[in-house]
Amino acid sequence: MPKVVSRSAVSSSTDAQPTASSAAALRVYYCICGEFILVIEKSLTTLPKRKTDGAIIIRSQDSPVDKAVVFKLNASPSEPVLLERAGGHERQYRFSCPRCNLLVAYQSTPPPVKSGPFLYILKGALTQMQGQVPKDAFDGDNEPMDASS
Ligand SMILES: [Zn+2]
Repeated sequence: MPKVVSRSAVSSSTDAQPTASSAAALRVYYCICGEFILVIEKSLTTLPKRKTDGAIIIRSQDSPVDKAVVFKLNASPSEPVLLERAGGHERQYRFSCPRCNLLVAYQSTPPPVKSGPFLYILKGALTQMQGQVPKDAFDGDNEPMDASS
């Protein structure tokens, strides 16, 4: 009796499946309090970082040369802040963890997320492991606490 092997059941296949759902490659990141914050198609470690503050740069809109990264941010918008930078001022529209209010991300345009070309994830703010503090959470210079409220 011939043995019938379903192609779809072969999970050890090394064939590239260009039509396979990208859902398989999605990464999930959490706030250090354990709250789910970000789903993204790439590992944050592969993305470029800002020189100014070490924040991870996520392209949220297509450009002529680069495609936007597919992601979803679960964070609450908070008050914009104006920062002094070497070249002048920079306005940041910030997003914080819905549970513990820790700042996790910002962009240069008002909410919603993706209204500007980039979203920045604060250095050391997120971890892939729920309930685990990221390795770089405490290195680098500490940003002054925002006492605006
Ligand atoms: Zn949190």
